[in-house]
Amino acid sequence: MTEADPLRLLAVHAHPDDESSKGAATMAKYVAEGVRVMVATCTGGERGSVLNPALDRPDVWERLPEIRREEMARAREVLGVEQEFLGFVDSGLPEGDPLPPLPEGCFALVPTEEAAAPLVELIRRFKPHVITTYDERGGYPHPDHIKTHEVSVHAFDAAGDPDRYPDLGEPWQPLKLYYHMGFTLPRTRALHEAILASGQESPYAEWLENWDPERDMSHRVTTKVPCAEYFAVRDAALIAHATQIDPNGRWFACPLEVQQRVWPTEDYELARSVVDSPAPEDDLFAGVRSEVVVR
Ligand SMILES: [Zn+2]
Repeated sequence: MTEADPLRLLAVHAHPDDESSKGAATMAKYVAEGVRVMVATCTGGERGSVLNPALDRPDVWERLPEIRREEMARAREVLGVEQEFLGFVDSGLPEGDPLPPLPEGCFALVPTEEAAAPLVELIRRFKPHVITTYDERGGYPHPDHIKTHEVSVHAFDAAGDPDRYPDLGEPWQPLKLYYHMGFTLPRTRALHEAILASGQESPYAEWLENWDPERDMSHRVTTKVPCAEYFAVRDAALIAHATQIDPNGRWFACPLEVQQRVWPTEDYELARSVVDSPAPEDDLFAGVRSEVVVR
């Protein structure tokens, strides 16, 4: 690896703010190590809500899409990453029984072959060695998150194939694809117990009561990236998305010191790899660093 050819990480996310809640400390750590990190944001978050009571005002709602772009720009600076919007329109989170149909033209309704095209173009231009995205359930069941998973896997497989998307640049095959595994039952339980042990009230009690152990994904974790010293950067990036985060809410209810002590990693599942990297790993670039030097 030379100065001219740094390692590169591409994190694919559904909405502005997702990059700050999933894998943000990992990105900050790699940026500090000299890795180039790019965030691809599939949609503009146009159908998101205002989740911070202090900003739930008509003047904010009126220019929400614009404000979310400004927030994204601040978070990008906090994390030290590059970032691009892929240009799709937020699908919104359908609510009700039965669920209403998705709005016409939204990201989740774009056929995957077409929806993956801007990401294929970005991969061929940015040339990431590693890509992170969501698992097949989207991490949580927002239609845009599931679509983000689908386009990421599709683009990972297509970007290196000269016969696919021939007009979108020179083929580039990323070496590893990861899914975020940040919100697992063991982690939440560990934080919960540590907070109780310190004599404070746990923000996770209700979550844990309703958690279906069948749906826990922790057995799929292959990779734990130590990044506790960047948790504060992660929180600062989240705070930058001021309309999306209640500073007095559950996100910040667990003291940083507890998180750093009890669960000092961000966790991933290695979903695809074209290099050798035996699990368990503690580095998204395990098996990649030597490959890149050899080239
Ligand atoms: Zn999202």
